[in-house]
Amino acid sequence: MIDDQPDAETPPQTCALCGCTDASPCHDDLRGHCWWVADRLCSHCAQPDPRRSLALVAAVQLSEVVAELLRFSREGDQEAFEPFALEPAENAADALRAILCIQRATAAPPYDLEREDEDNRLIGAIDCFLDGWA
Ligand SMILES: [Zn+2]
Ligand SMILES: [Zn+2]
Repeated sequence: MIDDQPDAETPPQTCALCGCTDASPCHDDLRGHCWWVADRLCSHCAQPDPRRSLALVAAVQLSEVVAELLRFSREGDQEAFEPFALEPAENAADALRAILCIQRATAAPPYDLEREDEDNRLIGAIDCFLDGWA
């Protein structure tokens, strides 16, 4: 897959919290316009602790996953749209990655090396999976 060309059908980058985009950034007098601190998080919505920012995006992603699963369970396949328009597997994998990163960043000594190794392998596998979506 060649990704160099910007795809006209790629949706614009959107903040998961406030929904702002490059075309319509947040603005206030104190901070001016927002910028991207993560893939789906703008500077105005970011938390002072990067782990909390990760948690915030993961929570929104998981709530989207729940909504998507509930919609499919209630409505089933639809002619008008694909059963999973919001790619719940990608969002769930992304959220799981965030949870593992928070866990890793929060772990206090004594470290459980076996656990850390498992977490790192899982994060690597998720990265491979998410690469396929990019
Ligand atoms: Zn935002
Ligand atoms: Zn913003």
